Amino acid sequence: MATPNPDQIEAGHVVAIYYTLKDAAGKQLDTNKNGGPPLSYLAGAGNIVPGLDKALLGQKRGTTVKAVVPPEEAYGPHRPELLERVPRAQFPAHVEIKPGMVFSGRTPDGLPLRIRVGGVEGDQVLIDKNHPLAGQELHFEVYVYGVRPATPEEQQHGHAHGPGGQHAH
Ligand code: ZN
Repeated sequence: MATPNPDQIEAGHVVAIYYTLKDAAGKQLDTNKNGGPPLSYLAGAGNIVPGLDKALLGQKRGTTVKAVVPPEEAYGPHRPELLERVPRAQFPAHVEIKPGMVFSGRTPDGLPLRIRVGGVEGDQVLIDKNHPLAGQELHFEVYVYGVRPATPEEQQHGHAHGPGGQHAH
């Protein structure tokens, strides 16, 4: 039997990464390369988008990995049936409503709600209930900072704990 390489990512390892996420046009959407701690995830457990999880399998500690992940392996396609029409009159009259704008509101139960505008049609506003990254091809640049076997507790929980494996959430 081959000896497992402790530096190489496989399912069941806890992996610490620094990443930058850009869209297909090169606009930066997210990063944790800003002085904070790395992101830890349990490989092969669905903790991160499936396409990135897959792209990182077999990669080694200390390497930089570029991965292009299609929507189907990220946040899914943009689904038109998740657009909902509401009257323009429900929005502040003095604000020009544009696609991509986000409003804070309340559900009928009083819970906080984020409303994202997908478009405007006449006196109707289209509310987009898709994930903000639905339909997007994701361009990741990932630095593999750490790789270690998961503890039995992490395997049981299906996610990574703190640096020493202690429960931190
Ligand atoms: Zn846990």
